[in-house]
Amino acid sequence: MKKIAIIGGGIAGAQTAVELAARDHQVIIIEKSDELGGNIKDYGCKAVDVCLKDNLCLVDDVFNEVEDFDNIDILFQTRVNDFTGKPGSYSLGIEREGVFSSIDDLDYLVVATGYTKWSDLETGTPEVYEDKRIIWASQLEEFIKSRKDHLDVDHKLTLDFEPESAVFIQCNGSRSIQEKAKYCSRICCGYSYRMARVLKHFFPEIEITIFFMDLQEGGYLQELSYQKLDDNEIGYINCKPIKVSSQDEKINIFYEDQKKGKKDNLKTDLLILSEGIHAKKVNEEWSRLFNLQLDEYGFLYPIEDQKDTNIYLAGTIKGPKDIAGTISDSKNVAYKIINDNKTGG
Ligand SMILES: Cc1cc2nc3c(=O)[nH]c(=O)nc-3n(C[C@H](O)[C@H](O)[C@H](O)COP(=O)(O)OP(=O)(O)OC[C@H]3O[C@@H](n4cnc5c(N)ncnc54)[C@H](O)[C@@H]3O)c2cc1C
Ligand code: SF4
Repeated sequence: MKKIAIIGGGIAGAQTAVELAARDHQVIIIEKSDELGGNIKDYGCKAVDVCLKDNLCLVDDVFNEVEDFDNIDILFQTRVNDFTGKPGSYSLGIEREGVFSSIDDLDYLVVATGYTKWSDLETGTPEVYEDKRIIWASQLEEFIKSRKDHLDVDHKLTLDFEPESAVFIQCNGSRSIQEKAKYCSRICCGYSYRMARVLKHFFPEIEITIFFMDLQEGGYLQELSYQKLDDNEIGYINCKPIKVSSQDEKINIFYEDQKKGKKDNLKTDLLILSEGIHAKKVNEEWSRLFNLQLDEYGFLYPIEDQKDTNIYLAGTIKGPKDIAGTISDSKNVAYKIINDNKTGG
């Protein structure tokens, strides 16, 4: 039996834990908050009259399984502050509610502390005003989640008001050198399209426009296309707007219409700002403590072969991924540990 500590109880940490526990290994999850789930615990299923394959239904079983395994211990409200030893006999110093202790004789360590979303960063996006008609995608996620029984698709979506029009602006905080995130976050085109379908489902008369740089979607929704937007009566404009302002009863979006070659305005009742996946500040600490490398955006990758160090990284700590990508990455990490014959049983 191998003894493994996993830092982070999001879907990456939880999936790695169940794979290891199912092979009778001993797992300790160290989670800084008081519940499992990570970012996705606040996101809602985006099924309408059909499933839109947002993967959210993949996660509940995993978190339930974690709770059911006797060989998984979960330490909530716990932080790591020290790390010593060598592969096969590591010790982690931890602090839980002001009490310091250590977890000893660890064969492996998995770091799965995930990502930060753009709205949580201090830099934020300058276009966000104190206006209830401008919301982050994660706020719309919370409204969608509050549909309560997401399987009952007729259950009303409640917003603070009934919008007659809505606009999504994509690539907020991503694909921008200025915002120190030159990369594509991969997930926001897909969730915005699904959110637009949810809005259409509950407000059939609503006019929806999405400002895209281009469409990026892999995984379950590979066929996402401008034609698909047209088919679902979702308008799109191929540019990133120049300016957003509050005007009278509307939000005004000033943009350059590349097709017509001129500047134009669009007024809307509701503006949803997409937000991507960003590296957590704690990655800097992990890079020092566990001898890992930070990439130019602050995501982590190993310096030495993980087979030699027994220190693995799982999920979005390494860069943007959707739930399906995170689950498959985490299974991969677990199988590497399970199949490593140099330590434990
Ligand atoms: C607005 C938005 C909507 C999205 N919608 C979808 C969708 O519909 N479908 C989809 O497939 N994907 C979606 N995603 C992507 C999805 O959120 C990620 O793929 C997934 O959450 C990654 O899981 P993770 O475990 O890597 O990270 P996280 O969810 O970030 O989990 C990390 C965990 O580590 C814990 N932690 C952090 N720091 C510490 C520390 N120092 N010590 C101990 N614990 C720590 C955290 O509390 C958390 O529990 C969306 C993303 C965004 C931003
Ligand atoms: S997934 Fe779409 S919205 Fe998100 S950064 Fe990539 S191109 Fe922009």
